[in-house]
Amino acid sequence: MAMRSDDFYMHRALDQARLALAAGEVPVGAVVVDPAGEIIGAGFNAPIGEHDPSAHAEVQALRAACTRLGNYRLDGCTLYVTLEPCLMCSGALIHARLARVVYGAAEPKTGMVESRANLFAQPWHNHCVEVEGGRLAAQAKRLLREFFAARRDASDG
Ligand SMILES: [Zn+2]
Repeated sequence: MAMRSDDFYMHRALDQARLALAAGEVPVGAVVVDPAGEIIGAGFNAPIGEHDPSAHAEVQALRAACTRLGNYRLDGCTLYVTLEPCLMCSGALIHARLARVVYGAAEPKTGMVESRANLFAQPWHNHCVEVEGGRLAAQAKRLLREFFAARRDASDG
């Protein structure tokens, strides 16, 4: 499979976010793409359903990709995620030795790439991850708004 566009893979991450929405979780989705362009892992946010505070979309996708490769490192791979990564996920992405992270919407409260800090830009890491934000951000935000609007309606009634 040849490498497709960033939009193509972000749409696959948005598909994962929709699965989270359908499961009643905050809609965030992620996919891991290998250097040849194949999606080797996908995941969506599921801390409630999995009883696991670390079950963010990024970690779920990393686990799937690492299991498939039989390796805890994902050299040369790119992760696409619909929302700016948090502290935990930014750390996991660095540990996985990803080449690149592409995210959708900024997360003003807990985002650790541009909103609160830029963990990836810190000079003490021994691995450098390339980062790009804002890819299909409007679609990612629309899903989040849908989720929180539905929750508000539920608590009003
Ligand atoms: Zn996270």
